[in-house]
Amino acid sequence: MGGKLLSIGECMVELSQAGEGLLRKGFAGDTFNTAWYARACFPSDWSIDYFTAVGDDPLSADMLAMMEGAGIGTSLIRRIPGKTPGLYLITLKDGERTFSYWRDTAAAKKLAEDADHLRAAIEGADIVYFSGITLGILASDAADTLLSEARRAKAMGKTVVFDPNIRPRLWPNKEYMLKTIEDGARASSLVLPSFDDEAVHFGDADEAATIARYKALGVENVVVKNGPGGITLAFGSEPAIHVPSVNVDKVVDTTSAGDSFNGGFLSRLVEGVSPAEAAAHGAAVASTVIRHHGALVSPELLPR
Ligand code: ADP
Repeated sequence: MGGKLLSIGECMVELSQAGEGLLRKGFAGDTFNTAWYARACFPSDWSIDYFTAVGDDPLSADMLAMMEGAGIGTSLIRRIPGKTPGLYLITLKDGERTFSYWRDTAAAKKLAEDADHLRAAIEGADIVYFSGITLGILASDAADTLLSEARRAKAMGKTVVFDPNIRPRLWPNKEYMLKTIEDGARASSLVLPSFDDEAVHFGDADEAATIARYKALGVENVVVKNGPGGITLAFGSEPAIHVPSVNVDKVVDTTSAGDSFNGGFLSRLVEGVSPAEAAAHGAAVASTVIRHHGALVSPELLPR
């Protein structure tokens, strides 16, 4: 039995070095990356839709064409006249990648401005997916709109999935950031945090502490990713279990590790396998992604 996953957030234009002073254009963004991997891994009777706002410029048109080409639905995406997408540039400094962003005026910041449209899109979905980055790009009243629609979806019995993806540079201050991340978790039935972020920003001593903290907020299911250290998950009233990561000898690029895990994990969950088996699949997908360059690895390379 199929269904619909709606992923909500910002997809940006990505510029990376292509040698001889040339820049290569791509598209990426955490919630879009997860939609990409969901499309690659979900059963074909599921539709995967992206929800954002774009402009009416040529780059926005290219972005939508790329999404459609990947099999991701764009019919719910608002086109705002005069706006343009956010953009980031990847540069290499001493072998380390650094990111410069131009996203303050991005169309995606307006994704929650039409509350009726947002509500209708969410009502049409079975799984609603958003992140701390989605909340972080929004003005506080727009974040409140999204949060109240997520709460409503949860109350309707939909699966609401949240990846905290804590990025301090998006937020005006730490207090508001942590409070809004907690509100995102409370509005969700499944939270997929990365332990490194949670330890730094919430001071968690270990994965068990992250699970306990989110459970105390009323989150039913928590899956904590910890890079090569594996995944710790606690579903409902079951005790927490640990699932190992796949051993990767040569990590090429960890961009999108967590996003791809989420897409692979959810794809197995909807097929009705155990959460541990779903996590093993998420780990297999992520282990393939980190062996390749870039956020979006070709679906043919991913494990079935
Ligand atoms: P994020 O990318 O959000 O920071 P993590 O670093 O925890 O998240 O990675 C997400 C998932 O990717 C992990 O649960 C694991 O399955 C896989 N992963 C990440 N780094 C490695 C690694 N070095 N070796 C094997 N698997 C990894």
